[in-house]
Amino acid sequence: MDTHHTTLLIIGGGPGGYVAAIRAAQLGIATTLVEGDTLGGTCLNIGCIPSKALIHAAEAYHQTRHFTGDSTLGIHVQSASIDVAQTVRWKDGIVARLTGGVGALLKKHGVKVVKGWAKIVDGKTVDVTLAKPEAEPTRIQCEHLLLATGSVELGLPGMPFGGRVISSTQALSPANVPAKLVVVGAGYIGLELGIVYRKLGADVTVVEAKNSILPLYDDELVKPVAASLRRLGVQVHLGYKVQGLNAAGDAVRVQDNAARESELAADQVLVAIGRVPRTHGWGLEQLMLAMQGRALKVDDQCRTSMRNVWAIGDLTGEPMLAHRAMAQGEMVAEIISGKRRHFAPNAIAAVCFTDPEIVTAGLSPKDADKAGLDCIHAHFPFAANGRAMTRIDRWFRARGGPPRQPLDCGLAGGRCWRVGAEHGVFTLAGDGGLSGGCGRHHPRAPHIGRGGAGGSAARAGACVACVR
Ligand code: FAD
Ligand code: NAD
Repeated sequence: MDTHHTTLLIIGGGPGGYVAAIRAAQLGIATTLVEGDTLGGTCLNIGCIPSKALIHAAEAYHQTRHFTGDSTLGIHVQSASIDVAQTVRWKDGIVARLTGGVGALLKKHGVKVVKGWAKIVDGKTVDVTLAKPEAEPTRIQCEHLLLATGSVELGLPGMPFGGRVISSTQALSPANVPAKLVVVGAGYIGLELGIVYRKLGADVTVVEAKNSILPLYDDELVKPVAASLRRLGVQVHLGYKVQGLNAAGDAVRVQDNAARESELAADQVLVAIGRVPRTHGWGLEQLMLAMQGRALKVDDQCRTSMRNVWAIGDLTGEPMLAHRAMAQGEMVAEIISGKRRHFAPNAIAAVCFTDPEIVTAGLSPKDADKAGLDCIHAHFPFAANGRAMTRIDRWFRARGGPPRQPLDCGLAGGRCWRVGAEHGVFTLAGDGGLSGGCGRHHPRAPHIGRGGAGGSAARAGACVACVR
């Protein structure tokens, strides 16, 4: 078997893996990256970027349809139609440009990219089944092993994927728009894509097991989204259990919190109930690493329980966000190069691209109270801002403690991730108190709340994000 030696071996070419590789190469570390599928991982191929592209297209169509009726702006169009196949081709073009760009950046920095599936032999040895047909497997030996294999979608045992039951991957490449879509899960994907399909013309019903939509965010931020779903005509059922498809396969059987059963007619069912770290099928068990639930356990430098074996991104659990994977990847590369770095989870912002959007950074009010922090609260109504009157509703909330204490910043409003970027929401938690943090700090690229612009990629002259 062909054997190849490297200092750093990275398994997985998603935002965690490719940013780590570019940064390591910039720092002079001999780096090899193994990717079994397409560079860019979930984020660029079947996640952040394609979903944001469809969000943009659906919003443009929705606005255009709006202009066929009365318009306060004075804009009128005769009629609106959408060629969904063309929309999907446009989205695929963006994805191809970005994944190609990642490949070019890796090459430019001298990262050796091996196309194939990696299987761990031990903490310093990995075998790769090459993607090229009939190629002999190759063996790679390394000093540092970085695991960045990402996550996979979770299915419902009583309603497996297939036929009408689809995951976000299929939902991002629709052949046509179903008349009736049932979405299971009112989290990030369920609501971002549920709103897309509603704006494209589907009747959308969302079924959520918990008693709130977006249960990860606090009520204050979620309320404007709930109101918008009502305005858009999206039906939401909270506290429901999904039992499976009916016998005819054309409706979802559900049970409400009083155990009453009913059926929801569905031409398609999008199951979006979370993702799980990809820990199986590539020999990870050989290393017997410490786990935290279904995720790999890491410390605040992304070290696993084995020396010189590191893990980043979705493989290490929630929050499963591209810019978190990127920040971790960049940090690990810098630590290996001899720099002193620690990961500050509070500095990772979150953006939910619903309509309106939600942006948060830092500790939530509940968590800050639990931690006994002496906090200052501030609310600012967007409605009082001239620019906001044209696009953005609701308000901006900030919460701070004394300088250098963690704080929370939350926004709910039309395109509020931009406001977040402008006001430094993305860097708040790392920067300090309310007076220092909420003013004029501009975001560093890896903290922009969408998968795309990594620090290393940006430093290397390529911002691969911002589809909106
Ligand atoms: P991944 O991106 O999953 O990459 C892992 C890579 O490893 C894959 O390319 C895989 O093929 C490869 N791999 C796995 N095993 C092996 C092996 N044995 N050998 C070789 N290669 C292997 N996050 C945001 O921050 N903002 C968003 O707007 C956003 N939107 C999303 C929308 C959707 C629909 C989805 C599904 C996710 C979204 N995310 C978003 C989450 C984001 O995509 C992930 O957090 C991010 O991609 C995780 O990066 P990663 O590098 O850890 O893993
Ligand atoms: P999620 O965790 O955001 O939401 C899943 C939802 O499904 C939750 O509300 C949960 O209560 C609900 N649920 C779980 N089991 C259920 C059941 N049996 N019946 C009904 N409801 C059920 O997960 P997701 O939306 O699938 O997204 C996966 C990951 O991708 C997330 O971790 C997220 O971080 C990431 N993501 C991020 C963005 C973004 O940053 N804008 C966008 C999309 C996805």
